[in-house]
Amino acid sequence: MNMNIEKLDRDYPNKPYLIAGPCSAETEEQVMTTAKALASQKIELFRAGIWKPRTRPNSFEGVGIPGLTWLQSVKQETGLKVTTEVANNKHVDLALKHNIDVLWIGARTTVNPFSVQEIANSLVGVNIPVLIKNPINPDLKLWMGAIERIYKAGITKIGLIHRGFSVYGKSPFRNIPRWQIPIELKKEFPEIMLLCDNSHICGRTDTLQEVAQKALDLNFDGLMTEIHPDPDNAWSDAAQQITPKQYDTLQNNLVLRKEGNAKIQDGLTSLRGQIDLLDDEILNILGRRMGVAEEIGLYKKKEGISILQAKRWAEILERSLIKGKTNNLSEHFINALLKAIHDESIDHQNQIMNK
Ligand code: PEP
Ligand code: MN
Repeated sequence: MNMNIEKLDRDYPNKPYLIAGPCSAETEEQVMTTAKALASQKIELFRAGIWKPRTRPNSFEGVGIPGLTWLQSVKQETGLKVTTEVANNKHVDLALKHNIDVLWIGARTTVNPFSVQEIANSLVGVNIPVLIKNPINPDLKLWMGAIERIYKAGITKIGLIHRGFSVYGKSPFRNIPRWQIPIELKKEFPEIMLLCDNSHICGRTDTLQEVAQKALDLNFDGLMTEIHPDPDNAWSDAAQQITPKQYDTLQNNLVLRKEGNAKIQDGLTSLRGQIDLLDDEILNILGRRMGVAEEIGLYKKKEGISILQAKRWAEILERSLIKGKTNNLSEHFINALLKAIHDESIDHQNQIMNK
């Protein structure tokens, strides 16, 4: 599909495009306190969730319409532009009635073409920028489909927000970044604005800076970050929100690689960034694999089974050689890699069994 997507207007073109504000609008006071503290920090958009898509029922599901009037007060009192998440046509109508400046579509909505189409239909003839978060599952086509549906409704100012992808089990991320996916998307739509929601990727505060920097190093255009005046007592996503003051520090610590831009253009920096990220993923996965090996060690100890079982090792190697072939990896490489992994596993099991 041939598209002519425009960037969103900016007040601060020399900075990353910054969206900041609470996960959820909770009270008028909380919204105003946050907005006033952020108003001097040169952000482009103030965010607050009015309707919250919650994974399980019985958690706070958003304040609804009153929150929209608080966002109107934010505009009046601070001059900030505001954005909120819409998940159906009712949300769109209400947001438009309350002069919300920019809409965003959340990860749990992008995943559903029916919902995206419903939103698109309610936007026909409307002139408002729309930001589209990636779907919760790592499906590039689904993300592209959402862009196309919104564009076909006549919206030309479209931006993307990368918020990571659901993971099952232990992970250092709440939502694993899989940076290759937004980078692929940017190749499809080079003009589109791409932001990183470091809050939902991290799910915690101690890695927000690092992930924000990674995004900028990969040539992202900006960030969406959750800010709360009292994060510990936030009604949603308490573990990942930071105070306006901490956000100021985060911004000041960002390294903007302006002079590196030419390099980024030629792709080398971006490709090296991708390699570093993939290496990080490989090491995280290897760490998890050794954890499982230790559990096996415990089991063998309990049952009195020996560590080295030649038959099992032959099976692992055979499986991996087949897998390796389909991934274009040489037999020589798979043999060496698997041997190194296996040796390390045995060391971990040994340690457990000799404890
Ligand atoms: C949010 O931004 O608060 C939110 C619910 O995000 P996501 O759609 O990325 O889960
Ligand atoms: Mn949130």
